[in-house]
Amino acid sequence: MKNAGQIFLFVAAVAARGQGIDYAKIEILTEKIAPNLYMLAGSAGADPGHQDAAGGRIGILAGPDGVFMVDAQYAQVSDKVLAAIRKISAEPIRFLVNTHVHGDHTAGNANFVKMGALLLAREELRDELLRPPANANAAPRDPARLPVVTYGLGDPVKFRMNGEVVDLIPVRAAHTGGDTMVRFENADVIMIGDFYRNYGYPFIDTNNGGTLKGALEALDETMKLAGPNTRLIPGHGTIINRADIVPYRDMILGVQAKVQQMIREGKSEQEVLAAKVTAPYDAKVPGGLLPAGAGTSADRFVSMVYSQLKGGK
Ligand SMILES: [Zn+2]
Repeated sequence: MKNAGQIFLFVAAVAARGQGIDYAKIEILTEKIAPNLYMLAGSAGADPGHQDAAGGRIGILAGPDGVFMVDAQYAQVSDKVLAAIRKISAEPIRFLVNTHVHGDHTAGNANFVKMGALLLAREELRDELLRPPANANAAPRDPARLPVVTYGLGDPVKFRMNGEVVDLIPVRAAHTGGDTMVRFENADVIMIGDFYRNYGYPFIDTNNGGTLKGALEALDETMKLAGPNTRLIPGHGTIINRADIVPYRDMILGVQAKVQQMIREGKSEQEVLAAKVTAPYDAKVPGGLLPAGAGTSADRFVSMVYSQLKGGK
């Protein structure tokens, strides 16, 4: 009989392989945004779900008061993320906040918590992380992945460190039920997470509490918060300004109107998908027709719009 430890390691290795992600190939690239603010992103071509840059973007505010970190990427690349942080600062990583629950933003949590970071997130995000994994063979989950400090909707949670004022701004159910925007007031930067994305069509994770209506509200709120020169930094894709939100929101509203019309005509989800209602936008959405979920990211988006409208949401 094989020893139990070996079996566990095998199961853990299978679970860790992810969906075709080549973790060994991922490099962590650093972009300086302001004198003490940096964005870290995975390199292209290693993550089938995020072809342009593996995993979710990380924010690093550095300085004498220690490192403040936004999101934690895949656990398999934590050592590379740490090496990239150490090129910026030798100070301890004091705080880590998650913009939302998805593994490309939270899977590395436990690794950074064990280095001493205090993990904060929305109460809803903690609940989402606690849900049993869909895969019964998944490796046991580390309690250190869970936020220690949580907050709900309401006024922003504020941090004052390294000459910066950082606001954790809770967002009503949008990309997920526990989204947070992270604003760096002096740098005039807002990390907006994944309710906006310009690589692939929008993804609203209704299984984790996301809603179409909430995502549209979050876009409106972003436009209110941002000045004309504020840099808005999504979890994936290129950095944008307030003006870029307008065509994105119009695209969502355009697809929503088309799907609503077809629902009124009694069309089924399959018929709506077959009608390719995103066609007018496909040329402007890089990665929009790449695989995501069961079909393309356009299919995933249209199915979500259909089920949200059908459910009266
Ligand atoms: Zn993401």
